[in-house]
Amino acid sequence: MTDGQESLFEEAPAARAEALRREIEHHSYQYYALDNPTISDAAFDSLMRELREIEAAHPELVTASSPTQRVGGYVGEQFAPVVHEQRMYSLDNAMDLDELDAWMERTAEACGGVLPPLCCELKIDGSSIALTYEDGVLVRAATRGDGTTGEDVTVNMRTVRDVPLRLRADALSAIVPGVDSLELRGEVYMPKKSFEALNAAAETEGRAPFANPRNAAAGSLRQKDPAVTKMRDLSTFMYAIADDRSLEMAGQWELLQWLREAGFHVNPDVRLCESASAVRAFCEECLERRESLPYEIDGVVVKVNEFARQRAMGFTARAPRWAIAFKFPPEEKTTLLRDITVQVGRTGALTPVAELVPVVVAGSTVARATLHNLDEVHRKDVRVGDTVIVRKAGDVIPEVLGPVLALRPETARVWEMPSVCPSCGSPVVRDEGEVAFRCISIDCPAQALERLLHWASRGALDIDGMGEEIVSRLVECGRVADVADYYSLSEDELAVLDMGRVNKDGEAIRLGHTIAAKLVAAIDASRTRTFARVLFGLGIRHVGKTTAEVIADGFPSMEALAAAGEDELAALDGVGPKIAHGVWLFFRTPDNVSVIERLRAAGVTMAAETVAPGEEVPQVLSGLTFVLTGTLAHSGMTRDEAGARLKAMGAKVSGSVSKKTSFVVAGEAAGSKYDKAASLGVPVLDEAQLLNLLETGEVPREV
Ligand code: NAD
Repeated sequence: MTDGQESLFEEAPAARAEALRREIEHHSYQYYALDNPTISDAAFDSLMRELREIEAAHPELVTASSPTQRVGGYVGEQFAPVVHEQRMYSLDNAMDLDELDAWMERTAEACGGVLPPLCCELKIDGSSIALTYEDGVLVRAATRGDGTTGEDVTVNMRTVRDVPLRLRADALSAIVPGVDSLELRGEVYMPKKSFEALNAAAETEGRAPFANPRNAAAGSLRQKDPAVTKMRDLSTFMYAIADDRSLEMAGQWELLQWLREAGFHVNPDVRLCESASAVRAFCEECLERRESLPYEIDGVVVKVNEFARQRAMGFTARAPRWAIAFKFPPEEKTTLLRDITVQVGRTGALTPVAELVPVVVAGSTVARATLHNLDEVHRKDVRVGDTVIVRKAGDVIPEVLGPVLALRPETARVWEMPSVCPSCGSPVVRDEGEVAFRCISIDCPAQALERLLHWASRGALDIDGMGEEIVSRLVECGRVADVADYYSLSEDELAVLDMGRVNKDGEAIRLGHTIAAKLVAAIDASRTRTFARVLFGLGIRHVGKTTAEVIADGFPSMEALAAAGEDELAALDGVGPKIAHGVWLFFRTPDNVSVIERLRAAGVTMAAETVAPGEEVPQVLSGLTFVLTGTLAHSGMTRDEAGARLKAMGAKVSGSVSKKTSFVVAGEAAGSKYDKAASLGVPVLDEAQLLNLLETGEVPREV
């Protein structure tokens, strides 16, 4: 949260801090004691961060028992307590690369001005474990608990297959003479596949599922019956020793090699970095690979490599100073819902929009998010003034998940749909059986603006540069009222378009010749877009991109389509009676017919392109359905372009993953569609496999 944001909350800092502490403690209990979190980690971290920022600004509010000053955890009564000889710590977080840089600068300063070698490891999202070996034999396993006292889970850990019950003889020579007990530390985790299988079984048996693999691992470890733990398919990655003086080695990197020799499972993705840029590069690589790993990670842990330096730097109350966890950009944050406004769409539908105090979520700033419709606002029970959880995953648009009820101020206001259109003041109606409220005035300027923007948008006629500001000015000065008007715009008149702003000398700012010339060229280029894009761009009710393509295949010219009856339209695959009626009605509306005639006269595409004989592409992919997600960064193709090429080879391209999907193509930063594919067992192709398929037409047999 930014400094300015704090004051936007109505409570005084002390009250807000206290409310946050109570809320954090409640969630810590749910998470550590019950293994049953009720909010996401990212949302929890966001509350914690807010508390930390308030405490930093008001140090008098810091209490010793504040969650910011302690290792989070819980010691249950069903296991014998184990007092850790060396405390088990948490880690401090760097929430972005700037914070990571700041930590590296502080570290360099603490080490005489030179950045020491740093050992970078994956941050495994599991549960901390300490394994004690006496004379090379496993005698005890303990959880972290509150850092001072943990729980004795020895019998359960013995069932975890990759935990050696005895250290390998080769490794014993590195133990300092006289040391007969070693405490080694790491993470117990549950692989993603096992987690999915466990939750699928829970669903069949009517048990509550675990929220995530981390809680499933912690819950499975803390079972009364070790036979249950044994069935849960837990694994470990070991990465630390409680007292580094027990081994004859100088640093973390050697320790990891030694742990491997001693028979432990050690994560292979480690790198010893000599510079800040190498550390950053490692973090970025790991972020990219995150989804493809068979277990969950939530960041990268960067550690000063040399043990002597670690000792010199020491610990704070909850974490070592010599290590930092670089956390991957969270996909959820909390922020303040300042207001709910209404946006009027091109069909007159009124959409409530959450106006938020801006927050960075998954790497981009979110200030507004759709709330879809009034029912949704009420179902989620979000009120103006609430602290809300905002989510943005991969390529998914931002979404308000719901309020943090415990932080709701008394002044929070229930929101209702206005009774008149905020753009034109006409009464708002709600069609029977529909969720949407609508402005039905044909003269509503907000609707006209949205229709014009839709026509120029990337998926439609793609008029580069024709954005909201310019289109609004063209509408306001009466020069453009419908999409056909775009095609009579000249460079000269665009160049003098008054942008409604003045320069420092008080003169009106005009668009200018450079931009005007580019716009005219972009308008010109839009004349030759595909017929399907033209149909989509017209904004016919219920006709989205995919439907427009289906219609363009079935009725390859505007005349044929205009003459089609509702039944003929409804006979197309994927076109139901509602869409058929919408299309039919569109061509029976005189204003629309006149716009189409003017578009035709302007030379805009009015028929589907035919493939010349001999150029026909073999339909090797017919019968297969593809879903594309993420960015195709290597080839630079847009998803639309890739989709068009797949279609040209006979495939279907769909927007959502289902059991019927043949393949999901996942580019970089693929989001929830990737997860859905994994959960449904739909094979996933990466970009290289896609390119190969487009090149050769051969479907990979193994993915
Ligand atoms: P943490 O999990 O963020 O980091 C510290 C831990 O990282 C260490 O204890 C260690 O177990 C682990 N780790 C993994 N790989 C490691 C490696 N290679 N080297 C060193 N350590 C490694 O901190 P935490 O204090 O254990 O727990 C806080 C986490 O729990 C946060 O992510 C928070 O969101 C979550 N939490 C969530 C809720 C909720 O309600 N959702 C409640 C409480 C806590």
